Amino acid sequence: MSTATLDRTLVERLVRDALTQKLGTNGHANGKAATPKLVVNISARHCHVTQEDLERLFGKGHQLKPHKALYQDGFFAAEEMVTIIGPRHRMIPNLRILGPCRDHSQVELAFTDAISLGLEIPVRKSGDHRDSPGCYLLGPAGMIELQRGVIRHERHVHMGPADAAHFGVKDGDRLNLRVASTCSMVLEDLLCRLSPSAKLEVHLDTDEGNACDLPHATKVELFR
Ligand SMILES: [Zn+2]
Repeated sequence: MSTATLDRTLVERLVRDALTQKLGTNGHANGKAATPKLVVNISARHCHVTQEDLERLFGKGHQLKPHKALYQDGFFAAEEMVTIIGPRHRMIPNLRILGPCRDHSQVELAFTDAISLGLEIPVRKSGDHRDSPGCYLLGPAGMIELQRGVIRHERHVHMGPADAAHFGVKDGDRLNLRVASTCSMVLEDLLCRLSPSAKLEVHLDTDEGNACDLPHATKVELFR
């Protein structure tokens, strides 16, 4: 048998295909779009604050210091943390602020957190504060009272236009998530949040992530 000679074009294609598979990119192998790479993360309790509220908590002119970059470009967990205080002085310390600052302050808790604070909170998408309770936030320079804005953020999936096309959805539509693990489950009706620069990422809260044992998941899959 003669020694096969690999021509340059073939080698390039093999390398490209191997990289496409490994990176899970949206590259086209054999003329067929690859499944977008899905990341599922647990979004632990946290808050968002306005620049004005940040200064009341941490002092005049204070700027958030990035502690850790989040998966979505431009967003970060800040070094700054506050204590959240509910009715009857129940509190949770070390509530992380996520940056950058927003035009409304908002606290996102899991139901377990809310129950321990003595708060009854609604499931809402970001910025929808209808019928939500308030709380006190305490920082090193002061305390503020939020009149409303403590919510359980509803489970959702961030995606860009190519991901939306792949799943055949638009902003505001719903997808289901199947998690295979020691506690396999299907989470229904994740809100699709489409934005031009978003990467495909599901956000669950700690209650949901623990219930399906997400840290030990062997497979995650989005479907209609
Ligand atoms: Zn999110």
